[in-house]
Amino acid sequence: MTELKSSAARQYSPNSAQASDSSYPIYVIVGTGPVGVRCAQKLLEFCDEAQIVIYGAETESPYNRVKLSQYLSRHVDRDELDNPILGKSDHRLAEYIDREIISIDRVKKIVTDAAGNRQPYTKLILATGSNPSIPRIPGAELPSVYPFRSLRNTNDLIALREQHADICVIGAGALGLEAATALKTPKNTVTLQSRGKLLSGLLGEEGEEFLKSSLAALGVQLKVGSTLQLIEQDEDKSRLVFEGDETLSVDAIVLCTGIQPEVSLAQQSGLNIDRGVVVNEWMQTSDPDIYAVGECAEFDRKVYQLVRPGYEQAESCCSHIRRDHGGEILERPYTGSYTDIQLKIAHIPCAIMGDVASENLQQHEGLESHVFRNRFKGIYRRLFVREGRILGAVYIGSWDEANSLRQAVAQEEKVSAHALKQFSDEGRLFGQQASNSIKNFPDSYLVCQCNSVSKGELCKAISEGKRTLNELQQATTAGSVCGSCRPLMAELLDAPVPNLVMRHAKGILVTSVISLLLITLSFLMPSPPVSDTVQTGQFWEKLWYDNFWKQVTGYTILVLCLFTAALSVRKRWNKLALGHMDHWRYAHSLIGVVAVATLAVHTGFRMGQNLNLALMLVFLGVTATGSLVGVFMARNHHWTDLKLREHRKWWSRVHYALLWALPVLLAYHILAVYYF
Ligand SMILES: Cc1cc2nc3c(=O)[nH]c(=O)nc-3n(C[C@H](O)[C@H](O)[C@H](O)COP(=O)(O)OP(=O)(O)OC[C@H]3O[C@@H](n4cnc5c(N)ncnc54)[C@H](O)[C@@H]3O)c2cc1C
Repeated sequence: MTELKSSAARQYSPNSAQASDSSYPIYVIVGTGPVGVRCAQKLLEFCDEAQIVIYGAETESPYNRVKLSQYLSRHVDRDELDNPILGKSDHRLAEYIDREIISIDRVKKIVTDAAGNRQPYTKLILATGSNPSIPRIPGAELPSVYPFRSLRNTNDLIALREQHADICVIGAGALGLEAATALKTPKNTVTLQSRGKLLSGLLGEEGEEFLKSSLAALGVQLKVGSTLQLIEQDEDKSRLVFEGDETLSVDAIVLCTGIQPEVSLAQQSGLNIDRGVVVNEWMQTSDPDIYAVGECAEFDRKVYQLVRPGYEQAESCCSHIRRDHGGEILERPYTGSYTDIQLKIAHIPCAIMGDVASENLQQHEGLESHVFRNRFKGIYRRLFVREGRILGAVYIGSWDEANSLRQAVAQEEKVSAHALKQFSDEGRLFGQQASNSIKNFPDSYLVCQCNSVSKGELCKAISEGKRTLNELQQATTAGSVCGSCRPLMAELLDAPVPNLVMRHAKGILVTSVISLLLITLSFLMPSPPVSDTVQTGQFWEKLWYDNFWKQVTGYTILVLCLFTAALSVRKRWNKLALGHMDHWRYAHSLIGVVAVATLAVHTGFRMGQNLNLALMLVFLGVTATGSLVGVFMARNHHWTDLKLREHRKWWSRVHYALLWALPVLLAYHILAVYYF
């Protein structure tokens, strides 16, 4: 069991008399997930004179579970997962990890941990979250079956991906989709299996087809609508058996089959339980001194599976506790949360806004659905409108009006018939004149959906001197959960927008285009004539004909080729995980353009004959296809069209195929120069 170093300077042992004799109220939180951490932060903010004790059962210090998918897909580093309660130590806080609370004595108001340590409490907050729901089928307990919930699970999945294991992901909710795309490598197969439709059918049939094509373009195989019956171990493979005796052999199975609120502690202590711990509008359980928040709580028959409702619940719960300190109740009682779904899959922007699933919306008379689709570009957009107001939307493929749309759906804004017509024709709802710049949004616009931080709060922090993204995040908490609002924060700061897709995209684009221009020139330019005067052209002639300079430029090209080969080694040899892949890509394209320029100097754009001609053509082919791949990569996040993305794959293949011929032709060329 571990006591976190960052915690209280004046920490007390849970058994000590000091804690129980303390004249200060003691607030105990069970669970160091995002919602438990938020409760601790709120209590520290609200209560000057209180002891706050927080227990976590996991061995790691608090981390941000929401970012685990991005950690799995390598879009965030381990450090970015950290979710400390405070940046500095505070005598009011005692923080324990690897300490599971196993019982609550509601009469004596004491909790006991697995090692028998006892901790009295004045108020207790249960933030025990949830566990993955495991399907009741034979074989679900096999070691090749992995859940995806914790940091430890994610590290196991990263190890699987690094071994290029063939994987079947079970469950096609947001988590299953994010896991399947993150686990796909060029060398493995990933199958996404689900009994029902993708995202529970929230996209509608046509939207689902668009998402399926996008997934297929990323190489994820789909097995939708089939029921898994059992899993059996077959030597070193696991065999999944589906209804109808269809089978699939894989190395590992990842379960993304929903969650089960963790209510065992509450259940043992006799609190009211349904699916989760039943709570009122202040998040009080059937015992008024015990609160439940986050994924373990059930409010109004709903258990939320997103972090934002948990944060809103933490706010209501802690402001209720604040009353003990003579403070007024600042917040509204909890009335339920507004939930949007936004997938965190690079290359597939996809979101569901508004209560699209609700029967109220779907079955209400007068509900209109307006659709815009562009199959070539893989874009599908659908709006739900009633009595001229936008109530919901779904989209697949990038949509630069998404921020304005989110605001419009949240506020059920009115939309004109003209705008709807324009939407059906062009896919744009707000017209060209409506700027999407965050600067033109009202102060009430919620920039950070996870932490409910408005544009007004961010502007206030900026005017108080917060001038960097990190300072702004620390001051307001915006951007600290899923991070998808960081580009908007950067825009407010006038900082360069963080590139969510690829670093050095601009640089790679420029170098690739220069390479392509040089290659085109080499075909279009006539071979330069040899100068017949001594004064003119002497320098170039030296480069083209002087043996020494020919060797200098020739060997320079050889060395540059070897450097570019380093990228392939970095890609294929995981132990060489030095620096971000995008830095290597950029270096690769810079070297590529220098190599083409040196080739121009070496040959004077002469194509040569026989094997020299073959060498020239292969070299130019390799650099041209590499540059094309560079252009496709750099523009990937703008080009949502699936076919264009496919081009990247095909040109990469041609690039690799030509590469095989290069060393042979180069070796022959060098031999020919020296020996023939
Ligand atoms: C991979 C992944 C991606 C996600 N992406 C998103 C997203 O993009 N957006 C979004 O809104 N939500 C997302 N979620 C859901 C989000 O993470 C949860 O809604 C959120 O973590 C709930 O927070 P919580 O604190 O209630 O519970 P949890 O995060 O589950 O934390 C509960 C903690 O309590 C501990 N605990 C349980 N019992 C005890 C005990 N008896 N004693 C001590 N400690 C105990 C557990 O070990 C755990 O650490 C994602 C979830 C996962 C797994």
